[in-house]
Amino acid sequence: MSSNKWDRVERLLGVETLNFLKTRKVAVIGLGSGGGFVAMGLAMSGVSNFVLIDEDVIEAHNVVRHVASYHDIGRPKVEVVSELIQKQNLDATVKAVRGRIEQHQDAIDDVDLVVCAVDGEGAKFLINDLCLKKNLKAIYAGVYERGEGGDVTVIKPYDGPCYACWASTLREGYIHPSPDGSNELDYGLINDQGTLDAEPGLWLHVVRVAATQADMALNTLIEGMPAHRALPGNTVILANGEIEVFQGHRTLPYSAEWVTIERNPACLVCGSKHMEAAVETLSLDALGSDMITLEDEDEVEENDRRN
Ligand SMILES: [Zn+2]
Repeated sequence: MSSNKWDRVERLLGVETLNFLKTRKVAVIGLGSGGGFVAMGLAMSGVSNFVLIDEDVIEAHNVVRHVASYHDIGRPKVEVVSELIQKQNLDATVKAVRGRIEQHQDAIDDVDLVVCAVDGEGAKFLINDLCLKKNLKAIYAGVYERGEGGDVTVIKPYDGPCYACWASTLREGYIHPSPDGSNELDYGLINDQGTLDAEPGLWLHVVRVAATQADMALNTLIEGMPAHRALPGNTVILANGEIEVFQGHRTLPYSAEWVTIERNPACLVCGSKHMEAAVETLSLDALGSDMITLEDEDEVEENDRRN
């Protein structure tokens, strides 16, 4: 293999940033249509250390919305994506964890960034809780129904909003104090699957959001390096079709709006009054009981591979 295989990336990022990137480790949680693409995109941009976490196998209906092919049907998504990463990036080291994040919380202990590519809002709240505890930055993406658009946000623990603050603003009504004043999280307004995209969009609409998530992940990884870019907000809302992001204002196809969501001091998860209590009262089990079907201990495959 030619020694200058990273030449084109090095020209864009610079040798210093690229070398730094090669020392970073990223966890991608959820390897569906978005997560698989994000993992590949990062691997092809110089990220070389991955932890992949997903419990599912490739099914026939996945293939038109996934980096996997029909040859991969029945194989775990972590195995397929791990293999694809290592075909494109010969320097890559991938730890493939088959299962749910709840059962593999330690797998993200030594990563520099979490890419949250699960599609259930409940699962995102679980990951938010974990990332706050472990002091990990995370990039979240959501795709709107029928792929009409989507949003991507970077969440830094106790520096700006946590995902719960963020969602209570951007997904208004998803979290609110319960009527009896007990201030428990209420997921009643999320659909039965806990997903935003009940009717999934075409892959090309999903990957526009995923490409943005990957790029924002890359940019967050290289903070402090010469190639880092300052972004105009902590959240970007992408239009694939024409959508109304702001009331009375049409956002045209292929355009985007930037917003900055502030931290909510009264947040039940990261707010100052609740910061210490949060870990105790908002246990993962309690948070996940409605949204997440905890299945029996999955067959777990952990493969450490090195090329
Ligand atoms: Zn918060």
